[in-house]
Amino acid sequence: MTSAHSDPSPVTVRVPAKVNLELLVGPLRDDGFHTLSTVYQAVSLHDDVTVALDDDWGCSVSGPYADVVPTDATNLALRAASLLAEETGVETPVHISISKSIPVAGGMAGGSADAAATLVACDRLWALGLSTEELEEYAAELGSDVPFLIRGGTAVGSGRGERLAPVLARGNYHWVFAISDIGLSTPDVYAECDRLRGKSSVPDPSPNSELMIALRSGDPHILAPQLTNDLQDAAVSLRPELGELLASGMEFGALGGVVSGSGPTVAFLVEDVESAIDLTVALTATGAAREVRKAIGPIHGAHVIPARVD
Ligand code: ATP
Repeated sequence: MTSAHSDPSPVTVRVPAKVNLELLVGPLRDDGFHTLSTVYQAVSLHDDVTVALDDDWGCSVSGPYADVVPTDATNLALRAASLLAEETGVETPVHISISKSIPVAGGMAGGSADAAATLVACDRLWALGLSTEELEEYAAELGSDVPFLIRGGTAVGSGRGERLAPVLARGNYHWVFAISDIGLSTPDVYAECDRLRGKSSVPDPSPNSELMIALRSGDPHILAPQLTNDLQDAAVSLRPELGELLASGMEFGALGGVVSGSGPTVAFLVEDVESAIDLTVALTATGAAREVRKAIGPIHGAHVIPARVD
């Protein structure tokens, strides 16, 4: 038993949300996943996850989305802590406090972000000294997006999205996220994508070189036409309101718009911070989205921040 005197202090990790600049969906694999080629960017909507030693394993959630996030063993952060403890032989329970600001079930990988943050925080709290590569391996066992949320920045994901390669990206991009109330489950969107494709065979996807050139330019005008999501037609087919939301954002001056992941959030790329404010105001006024948030990307992945003094 660790004495109170030597107990390590709680560790807080800040973790970003992600947007997929490109999401190419390939064939369905035998394990039920689709082969993907995606380009992730970490954006400045974030959760703060604090882990502290406790007598028992537990989890609590605060913030505007607290009542829609489970606090039982299905919470991805608790699953991450259990996995890391099991794999490394740690027997010291932790309580995980999640200050949640990433929209839930919006295609921005909020649950995966909390899992990534928990791995980084527990590694520090339990003094495991794991490398980023080792943490990313555990992360891949928890979900396809989890390794990227440890790494952050802009990266290509292949396989199920969990195999990462860096991308040379210049500049900062301004985003506006329109978060709607429309419920869309990830499996339903993939199933609709398969249905729309019918029997036509799909090649293994690979990153679009035009997108890579656009990212090197640092110019949002060049990046905007390259935003692609193979799940977008499926998401719009299931929820036509998303098509209207995309059209509104473009009418109000966005350079480009794309459904984020499996939706229902729509991500708009704009020219600068003033355009982001204008689009946020215009989209909020339409009432077509529950919430409209601006953000910049790329930012870094899960990292320890100084403890909050409340
Ligand atoms: P993805 O983009 O990875 O498909 P998402 O961003 O659409 O996911 P999440 O916010 O990760 O969706 O939440 C999906 C579901 O996962 C939620 O409805 C919730 O019940 C569950 N969940 C489990 N743990 C968490 C967590 N820590 N934060 C948010 N949701 C969680």
